[in-house]
Amino acid sequence: MKIVINAKIVTDKEVLVGYSIIFNHKIISITKEIPKDIEIIDAKGAYLSAGFIDIHIHGSSGADVMDATPSSLDTISKSLLQTGTTSFLATTMTMSTKDIQNALLNIKNYKDEVSGAKILGVHLEGPFINRTKHGAQDAKYIQEPNFELIKDYIDIIKLITIAPEVTNAKEFIEYIYKNYPNIILSLGHSSANYKEAKKSFKWGISHATHLFNAMNPLHHREVGAVGAILEDEDISCEIIADNIHLHPSLYSLIYKLKKDNLLLITDAIRAGCIKEGIYSLSGQKVIVESGKATLENGTLAGSVLKLNSALKNFCNNSNIKLPQLIAMVTSIPAKKLGLDIGELKVGFPADIVLFDNEFNILKVFIDGELKIS
Ligand SMILES: [Zn+2]
Repeated sequence: MKIVINAKIVTDKEVLVGYSIIFNHKIISITKEIPKDIEIIDAKGAYLSAGFIDIHIHGSSGADVMDATPSSLDTISKSLLQTGTTSFLATTMTMSTKDIQNALLNIKNYKDEVSGAKILGVHLEGPFINRTKHGAQDAKYIQEPNFELIKDYIDIIKLITIAPEVTNAKEFIEYIYKNYPNIILSLGHSSANYKEAKKSFKWGISHATHLFNAMNPLHHREVGAVGAILEDEDISCEIIADNIHLHPSLYSLIYKLKKDNLLLITDAIRAGCIKEGIYSLSGQKVIVESGKATLENGTLAGSVLKLNSALKNFCNNSNIKLPQLIAMVTSIPAKKLGLDIGELKVGFPADIVLFDNEFNILKVFIDGELKIS
């Protein structure tokens, strides 16, 4: 059993001072007592929260989910610890059927073997997207939505990004929503207008992939998918808070509208967490310079954002309180996924992060085991 003392404990609702947290592989209690015969860790005044959850990440430290190798998954998993991330959805890209299925098979076989952040399952980003909004997804591999592509891996898929306006999307969305209600269906890489987006919410879309990016924007006469998403309080959305994909003045505005339905993600690629330079993204050349990842034609190609930096960016550009901010990378994604993680609740896994007031990560525990310090 371990106890962390002298921490400012960040829960969903408040910051607790003068309390300690006791855990083994699970959280045992938050208390003012220090029991005898227990390993004591002094947080020296640092913040402590549940570990962070990233539901949209492709790679890190030179590895990419689409490499489809166990070592790449492990590299990503270990590398994410330095960002405070303790679990994530391994996110695929629009590539050939064979490449996608290889990546899915690899995740299915090895997701529980990684030694760092846990793999909660898959975010399937494409290939069921719109050609006109492919962004850095390779348009030549776009397919019409079809269950056949993913049926053997359906048990590990937690989130599907789909353009609801393309042929067969309605049937596909309704089928998944009816038969696999735990899979999050997300509007993204879509040219849906306001009406089409609203209709898709009735079919089963409940989330929006990187809000504002690769979708129709909010114009005062053409309200676009963005307008439909912001208007409907039941639709959650994720944003890439790297101050590049979105102007930081939008953070507060989106938060005011979405509250408990706003999640922070990184959408990071293999160049995340390492030095800038030339990398590849599903076979395409990516240039990483000044914190920005682009294809040769200038299209933004994912990010090199770290989840703790996303928190810092959001914090520096809004008046949001720390518990609400941390919830965007802990309890909110956990609840959206329907998992008992992401909170410092008794009985929940002891996935715990310590960080300073600049969101630098100091210590990370996974299932109570100290992974970095
Ligand atoms: Zn992505």
